[in-house]
Amino acid sequence: MTEENAEEEDMLKWAKGYAKKQGWTLNTDEKQRGTVIRGLVRNKKKFGRPYCPCRIRSGDEEKDIAIECPCVYHKDEVTKEGHCHCNLYYKTA
Ligand code: SF4
Repeated sequence: MTEENAEEEDMLKWAKGYAKKQGWTLNTDEKQRGTVIRGLVRNKKKFGRPYCPCRIRSGDEEKDIAIECPCVYHKDEVTKEGHCHCNLYYKTA
């Protein structure tokens, strides 16, 4: 396993655990889910934090805490729309 794959595996494991804790599931579309996981790993490597790959960073660390996964918006989105903005977390049907 490459280092990159191992990091993606870890991120996926973490996201799965978080979803389970909330009583949600992860996107079952492997391709879409993989894109978000890769984006989170990329941001963590590049910026030191797993910023949401589907939102624009302001560059201001204080402000960008809001878009660190799991972002401050995701619970509302899952409740109202059934999934978070990135389509990573899904409300269980
Ligand atoms: S939208 Fe979803 S994937 Fe993106 S930061 Fe929020 S919880 Fe994470």
